[in-house]
Amino acid sequence: MDSDMKESPASVGGVALASSCPYCHSAAIRPRYRQHFHKINPTYGPFDFFVCAACGCGFNNPMPSNEQLKSFYSSYSSGMPEEYRSAMLEYEDSSWHSQIARDLVDLAGKHRLQPGFTWLDVGSGAGEIAGKLSKLAPASRGTCIDLHPAPEYMQDSQVRWLQHDINADFSRDVAEKFQLVYASAVLEHVVNPEKFLINCLKLTEPGGVLYLFCPDYSSLASKVMGQKWPYYLPGEHVTLPTKKSVRTCLDGISRSGEVGEINFRVGGKRISYSVQYMLFALNLRWLGKMLPFNFSLKFPTGALEAVIVRL
Ligand SMILES: [Zn+2]
Repeated sequence: MDSDMKESPASVGGVALASSCPYCHSAAIRPRYRQHFHKINPTYGPFDFFVCAACGCGFNNPMPSNEQLKSFYSSYSSGMPEEYRSAMLEYEDSSWHSQIARDLVDLAGKHRLQPGFTWLDVGSGAGEIAGKLSKLAPASRGTCIDLHPAPEYMQDSQVRWLQHDINADFSRDVAEKFQLVYASAVLEHVVNPEKFLINCLKLTEPGGVLYLFCPDYSSLASKVMGQKWPYYLPGEHVTLPTKKSVRTCLDGISRSGEVGEINFRVGGKRISYSVQYMLFALNLRWLGKMLPFNFSLKFPTGALEAVIVRL
């Protein structure tokens, strides 16, 4: 074999091993877990998980390859394991999707967006939040972006569906900008979070808002539960940021001048889950079956939110 055909020690399966943090670029990264497989699909993996001493985030290193990601997601319907989706639908009324949709309407109000505001849902999955948002703000004009086609029930809806790879420079393929852009439970899935945030901000109108909701690896829940934390999903949640990771990354983007000036705040967020869904996600469904009722609570599951305003 030709010498330059050999796999370099800095790559595994053709994917380069990162030498710095995907959020803050610090070189102070070290492995925490080795050779973990996905929790639901035990044939997907193995993945090593590194942590950054500077911002505290965790990430798969190397990242899964594009081919691995595509084949993994094609085993899901609409970007989510079937088992999770059906558990979520079962407890739909009390879902966190409803909470996020309501929070987005409040956010639009706070930022004085008119009823006919335009919005973009990046990484829409099965369009759960988009569907609820378009009902709560019926005059608004919504667009979804994800790799897969629109789920069947959304094909006749007012919401436009665009098919793009959100790991790529998707902002190049979208001709307009939006007053409200959001990515809910998406940042942890993308292989280059900084590039993803730049693309989202490029599609946010000056004066408009970008909203993010994702796991927080510095949360108490994450520290207490370790690898049993439900957001720890090797190969699927390929990065787990902290509030510091998101702030540092946004500061860097702001300094780069690539998207103009931004203002932002990042904080923890309690999220509404039904108790039955929570027990399911914690692998305690048997306990749920012993409860004769369901209700929802705002759990400190260890999540964060960021509101970024383009000036
Ligand atoms: Zn870092």
